[in-house]
Amino acid sequence: KLWEKSGFFNSDKLPKTPALPAGRQRLKPKIYFTILLPPPNITGSLHLGHALNATISDILIRFNRMRGKKTIWLPGLDHAGIATQNVVEKELDREGGTRFDLGREKFIERVWQWKKQYGSIILGQFKKLGVSCDWSRLRFTLDKKYSDAVLKAFIHYYKKGWIYRGERVINWCPRCQTSLSDLEVEYKEEKTKLWYIKYPLKVQDSRSMIQDYIVVATTRPETMLGDAAVAVNPKDERYKNLIDKEVILPLQNREIPIIADKAVDEKFGTGAVKVTPAHDLTDAEIAERHSLPFYQVIDKDAKMTSEAGYLYFGLKTEECRSKVLEELEKLGLIEKVEDYTHNISLCYRCRSKLEPILSPQWFLKMDELKKLAIKAVKSSKVKIIPKNFEKIYFSWLNNVKDWCISRQIWWGHRLPVWFCQNQTGRIPNFQFPISKQIPNSKSQTSKPIENSSAEKFVVSIVQPRRCPFCKECKMIQSEDVLDTWFSSALWPFATLSKKDLKNFYPSDVLITARDIINLWVARMIFSGMGFRGEIPFLKVLIHATILTQEGKRMSKSKGTGVDPLELIDNFGADALRFGLIWQSMGNQDIRFDGTAVMAGRKFANKIWNASRFVINNTNLRMNTNNTNKIKPKTSAGKKILSQLQKTKKAVEKDIENFHFGQALHKIYDFFWHDFCDVYIEKSKKQLQASNPQTSKILFYVLLESLKILHPFTPFVTEAIYQKVKPKGSKKMLLIVKWQ
Ligand SMILES: [Zn+2]
Ligand SMILES: [Zn+2]
Repeated sequence: KLWEKSGFFNSDKLPKTPALPAGRQRLKPKIYFTILLPPPNITGSLHLGHALNATISDILIRFNRMRGKKTIWLPGLDHAGIATQNVVEKELDREGGTRFDLGREKFIERVWQWKKQYGSIILGQFKKLGVSCDWSRLRFTLDKKYSDAVLKAFIHYYKKGWIYRGERVINWCPRCQTSLSDLEVEYKEEKTKLWYIKYPLKVQDSRSMIQDYIVVATTRPETMLGDAAVAVNPKDERYKNLIDKEVILPLQNREIPIIADKAVDEKFGTGAVKVTPAHDLTDAEIAERHSLPFYQVIDKDAKMTSEAGYLYFGLKTEECRSKVLEELEKLGLIEKVEDYTHNISLCYRCRSKLEPILSPQWFLKMDELKKLAIKAVKSSKVKIIPKNFEKIYFSWLNNVKDWCISRQIWWGHRLPVWFCQNQTGRIPNFQFPISKQIPNSKSQTSKPIENSSAEKFVVSIVQPRRCPFCKECKMIQSEDVLDTWFSSALWPFATLSKKDLKNFYPSDVLITARDIINLWVARMIFSGMGFRGEIPFLKVLIHATILTQEGKRMSKSKGTGVDPLELIDNFGADALRFGLIWQSMGNQDIRFDGTAVMAGRKFANKIWNASRFVINNTNLRMNTNNTNKIKPKTSAGKKILSQLQKTKKAVEKDIENFHFGQALHKIYDFFWHDFCDVYIEKSKKQLQASNPQTSKILFYVLLESLKILHPFTPFVTEAIYQKVKPKGSKKMLLIVKWQ
């Protein structure tokens, strides 16, 4: 539309502002104003949360642009690794194929095709809302330049010794031979048995002849071969005196401790459960909390490993289950068996039963990075608003574990790691400066790979010309890609050109939802500090979460979501913006009330009608001179002018303090009541007497009101402005001076 064609969304094309004097960084906020749009997923569709976020950003951008600042609101898209790959795989599934049939390269081509076709839909939806983003600076997390920055960051951290190999329990499909993210797991109810198995307590006094047991209930007896502990809930009175005692794990004759962990459900079975760190996701977390060892007894083909013991080695898990039960029966250690129904996890693609197993992953150490992130907020360099969200931020960082940054999918930034195909050669990795060995960190979440020094790899953006290990192989790149959040953590600087970095980094305010304070905000802060040595933004504004009227989360699948696009079609974008901001009174949740959107439409109509009245009755066109000579003769005239000034000042203050709802309520009251109900009514008599001052005041107040309203309801105010601006002028309200 008119706005986009004008190019004024791009700060480079805005009317001249003084160049930033060198070395006067303090002046930056006075001249520049930057916001980065949290990049929506290319698979996304505009929801009310986006709409609120974008409206707040747009108010700030339009307000600051009118105040003569060089503004940039930088838009972009996130490649959304898992979500996008899923969408395309589902397409393939309907065609009867899989990504493995296509192969990696062809599959990625296919995803790019999908992106071309559908990836920008969401931006079109943002545009409908009237956002004044600088589209000339649109970025995508898989752009060449952006990808380079991501790989550089990986190498930067690697050189510092913060990236290491470790193992983590993941969902594994033995048929597809791939790991699956939580999003890719399907659940099905299954009838099975619950076995109650007696684990003998270790006898403290060897002369005592009394054998005592603790009974654990399990649906997977075969995994007991990998048990590392028995766990009970710390509040469970029945086991209070057994905590920290030891049991002898039957069949393996291993001494394992009885531990207390809040993750244990007292009502399940006997309230005591076995802990198998390597083959259960919950158990893995318990094991991390208690530093238990991981015994891998099941392999990638769902067969038992040698660690399971020679009796069971090589058996399929079902065969092993029968064998284990047989042996336990012989020893008289099965107390009872019950029927049981529970949910099992299946591969979303082939519906095979998933097997949680240990798998090598890449981790980023948090020790140093978290210190940087904590310091940035503690020192108030970065201000989180409202302040109470700092608590969430600090508590997450204080307990943060090392970050697992690798994912076994194809769509994303492939790790710049190259393996020797032969894995031979006598030189250890640390001979190469780029792939030096890394001591293990204290907070690491996983069992370090003991033989990692034997794993031959080189970290490099380009393929090494010659394998430094065996000297003959063509090195192959890691199949893993980086966690999507690893790339979005670089958003504040990887999006900016060198010149823009100078002017627009750090940005002024990051506007975001509270559910990604940890996933995204904290990571952007330590990435900015760790990589650029400077905070990425001055303020973080956490906006309200939009709920249903009953106070529940909106959910598309439950049909409780409200579609902002429908609201725009029915009531107009201004009305939606009005409705959202009207309800933003500083509360942390908004129970969304559609009547506010209808009120928004009514208000837009009111603006139209009042404007029509003023235009028809004053016959004035905007002209800088006619505002200077206003000399109100009536008390009504004096009053409206002072109310206008008061409102404008208050609105400025509210916007600066992010009190958007309060600002809108003030403008609304002023325009509807003070101006329309009172002054316009009174003016009618004066107009009949052709009082020139009244015409001027009407016109002036209208113009000023349009300006104040513009950040909130840009469409209607711009349309009216186009009718009252000086003849022949190309000017737009968008860039009219606020003062
Ligand atoms: Zn599968
Ligand atoms: Zn090699």
